[in-house]
Amino acid sequence: MKRTYSCPQCHAVLNPNVKVILAAYCRDKRGLVLLSPQPGNYQAIVTDDLPLAQGDLVEFHCPVCSHLLTASHDENLASMDFRFSTGLEGKVYFARRYGEHATYFVASDDVRSYGEHVADSGGGVNFFGAGGDDW
Ligand SMILES: [Zn+2]
Repeated sequence: MKRTYSCPQCHAVLNPNVKVILAAYCRDKRGLVLLSPQPGNYQAIVTDDLPLAQGDLVEFHCPVCSHLLTASHDENLASMDFRFSTGLEGKVYFARRYGEHATYFVASDDVRSYGEHVADSGGGVNFFGAGGDDW
């Protein structure tokens, strides 16, 4: 199944190839973060010039128009638009904390969540990909 993620502001496709590419800011550093487009896959690639530690709250931006992707209703989450080849489309929300594994796909009335931290109510450590020592 093909999954396309796009910027809610400029509608640029954020996964032109196999990874979702986002601009990230944390503690006055900036860099690119590559995320897996596959729900529940938390492998992330972070450039060396953006040293992230477990629990860091990362600010994600569209790499094309710099739009801030932080969700308006919950500042612990970032969001993008998604469209699957099945026709399903909506918004995907993911935790901004580095190492926190929580992703929510919201399409009309349907919500699907992925990751072992989805039940956490804010106190968790982590984000879309990282954690572990092997990245
Ligand atoms: Zn954009």
